[in-house]
Amino acid sequence: MSGEEILSSVSQVSDETEFYTPMPDGYIRGRCKYVVIVGTVMSGLGKGIFSSSLAKLLQDKGLKVSPIKLEGYLNIDSGTLNPFRHGEVFVLDDGMECDMDLGTYERMLDIDLGRSNFTTSGQVYTEVLHKERHGDYLGKDVQMIPHVTGEVKLRLRQLAVDSQADVVFVEIGGTVGDVENAYYIEAMRELAYEEGPGSVCFVALTQILEPRVLGEQKSKAAQLGVKRLMEMGVQPHIIACRATNPVNEKVRQKIAQYTNVPMERVFSMHDCESIYVIPNMLRELGYDFEVIRLLKLDQRVNLRQERKAWLKWCDFVDRLDVVNYEINIGITGKYTSLRDSYASIIHALENSGTNLAARVNIEWIDTTDITDANAAEKLADMHGIIVPGGFGARGAEGKIACIKYARENGLPYLGICFGFQMAVVEYARNVCGIKDANSSEVDSKCKNAVIDILPGQKGIKSLGGNMRLGGRDVEIAPETFAWNLFGKKNSVRMRFRHRLEVDPNSIEMLTKNGLVFSGKAPGESIMQILELPDHPFFIGTQAHPCMTSRPLRPQEMFVGLVAAGIQKANPDKKLPTPIEAAEKVRKQSGQRKK
Ligand code: GLN
Repeated sequence: MSGEEILSSVSQVSDETEFYTPMPDGYIRGRCKYVVIVGTVMSGLGKGIFSSSLAKLLQDKGLKVSPIKLEGYLNIDSGTLNPFRHGEVFVLDDGMECDMDLGTYERMLDIDLGRSNFTTSGQVYTEVLHKERHGDYLGKDVQMIPHVTGEVKLRLRQLAVDSQADVVFVEIGGTVGDVENAYYIEAMRELAYEEGPGSVCFVALTQILEPRVLGEQKSKAAQLGVKRLMEMGVQPHIIACRATNPVNEKVRQKIAQYTNVPMERVFSMHDCESIYVIPNMLRELGYDFEVIRLLKLDQRVNLRQERKAWLKWCDFVDRLDVVNYEINIGITGKYTSLRDSYASIIHALENSGTNLAARVNIEWIDTTDITDANAAEKLADMHGIIVPGGFGARGAEGKIACIKYARENGLPYLGICFGFQMAVVEYARNVCGIKDANSSEVDSKCKNAVIDILPGQKGIKSLGGNMRLGGRDVEIAPETFAWNLFGKKNSVRMRFRHRLEVDPNSIEMLTKNGLVFSGKAPGESIMQILELPDHPFFIGTQAHPCMTSRPLRPQEMFVGLVAAGIQKANPDKKLPTPIEAAEKVRKQSGQRKK
């Protein structure tokens, strides 16, 4: 039986056949193509960066793309994962807590993703077990093949139907050879068989080792890694070789010889200075048209649209080399040793810097030993600081000392989520005179909790998915600093992930003493943006503005912080204010004022 016949006749469980391929309503075979990216040799090769860059090239050509990440772990989402081990927990507009790679896709493709773009083994098994209890397998013994793999294929095809994508980009987590990811690869083998030739393009990302003692590039690990994939019945179409230096001809020949992949599809993907030049690099190497040819997408390509999109992107990439200013932004935090924990903040800062011709040096500040007495010394070289999102009490007092210093000394400040809450605590203590003010998360016995648990969160015991999550509209108060910064918009959509909020009973006391709440939840007394009118730049938000910041449209709070930092570093020059800089960047990226 051919793949086509399988698709047309056996989408339901039946006693007549061993085949099982559940199909979503409205699925048309051949309409959507798939690019599957797997990693060999080791993790951390940048599958998400590679995949999103390739997807961008196809998107620029007028094709609709939709990415999906398949994670091997049994967690239902990334909400309970420690960012110190797994990188930041990224939140999508529909509230899904997911892997940081989804942030990479959103930034590179400038699209909003949702829960159908993120699957874990926990989700897949839960669904299969649910169907089993429901009797959906009609007396059959439920097996990894075909039932669990069938569920994976169903999800991809459902995404194809819902997104109307020309190409679904499937990124498989981990590395070929991992037990927990093996069934995903098997599902992809089945998918390729069922969809038929020219429908699925497999890309193997591999690493070329270059031991310093040998001083030459070695391909054996890469060969063995790809072999392992072939043992699973998957023949890659493209091999992307990650390496420190350009991969030499001989190594590429060896890999081609051992893997049946023609030389012209064995690419060198060596290190480069910024991830944002990778789309250009892949384009110059011809990956885009290799994929177009393999998937027979020539007819759907719109070259005129590509020219426009490409010029816009190149404009941004060219700016990477224009550095007129250099500033230091300090980020205080618990996971200061791991850049991945703060990935979207770093990107938002760097992208804002690129748009304002500034190099932003990020300085990691451990707050555990910062006090009012030494804050001036510790922050002496900073042109701005961020207190980012966080949970728990550790380092909180040091963060409050940093905020006090920033407030009193005109140091630009951006408080994100926990950093917004700590700014409220600092103001209550040092301006309103409530010496024991705190957040009930930091001190559960606190009598003056100006930050307290949201009423809707009280009494919730389970730890997964129980926060105020996802994209929400924030109402901006007219004529405030935030309103001007956002180009006089009355509403801005941002992403949230928190359990606590400003205690509604403390709002009056705080505002009477000069703190301005310039953003709030529509129809509720949940405060979401604060600002200090007489400070060069002091702003905080209960949201995570970094998660909606995109290279070509950096979020205004970050643009404002960087602009204020540039002013701080160049006190003698007449430079754009944060509000002027935000307006300039919006114009530069062709955004219209609302
Ligand atoms: N821990 C705080 C809360 O739950 C802040 C959360 C955050 O910074 N993401 O409200």
